[in-house]
Amino acid sequence: MPLDDLPQPIKDEIFRFVNNQEYEPAPNTYSLTDLLYCLRRSYFKKMNPKPIASLKQAFNLYRGQIFDNLWTKLFKRNQVRCTHRLRSVPITISGKYDFLDEHGILTDLKMPRTLFYVGDQPSEEYAKQIRFYAFCNALDKAQILYIDGGDCKKILVEVGDCTELLKEIEEKATLLYWAIQRGKPPQQKGPEWLCNECQYQNECTNEE
Ligand code: SF4
Repeated sequence: MPLDDLPQPIKDEIFRFVNNQEYEPAPNTYSLTDLLYCLRRSYFKKMNPKPIASLKQAFNLYRGQIFDNLWTKLFKRNQVRCTHRLRSVPITISGKYDFLDEHGILTDLKMPRTLFYVGDQPSEEYAKQIRFYAFCNALDKAQILYIDGGDCKKILVEVGDCTELLKEIEEKATLLYWAIQRGKPPQQKGPEWLCNECQYQNECTNEE
C-alpha cells in the first residue's frame, strides 16, 4: 500500500510533526546538513524556507524522529549540541549527536527504510557528520546504529585526524555565507539523487 493511501488524519499528523520539529537554526548558524549535501539547496532553503511537502520525505524524517525521541533519553548524555565557530566569517556550524552509549561511545541512530542497501561503511556524509561531533567533544570512538523494521547494524567510524574535514566544512560554510550575502546561489550542485526529492528544483533551474 503506498503511503498516499494512509488515512488523511495520519498523513496530516506526519506533516504537522515534521514541519513543527524542523530545527530552527540560531542566527548566523549553519547545520552540518546545510553543508554536507547540496549547497545550492541550502541557499534556496535559507532565502525562502518551505515546509516539507513530500509525504515520503516527511515519513522518513518522522520515523527517525519518533525513535530519537523514544530512545535517546535513555542515555545520560543525549542530544548533545556540538558547535564550531569560524574565524573567517561570522558563522557557527552546529549539529547534535544522539547519545553516548553505556561504553562512552558517541552514537548516532539512523532509521533507513531497509538495511538492504546499508553496506559495511556508512555514507560519506554520515561519517563526516559523526567525526565532526567526535572532534567537537574530543572523543575518539564513534558509531552509527542503523535500524530498520526488524534488524540492526552497527558500524564503527574511525574518527582519526579531522583537519581536512574541518577545512572542507569551513570552506563550504564560507561559500554559503558569501552566496547569501551576494544573493547568488553557489554554482556547485548536490548529488543527483537529492534532486528528485528537492523542493527547490524550480528555483535551481531558473538560476542556472
Ligand atoms: S535541484 Fe538538485 S542541485 Fe538543485 S538545489 Fe535541489 S538538490 Fe541542489
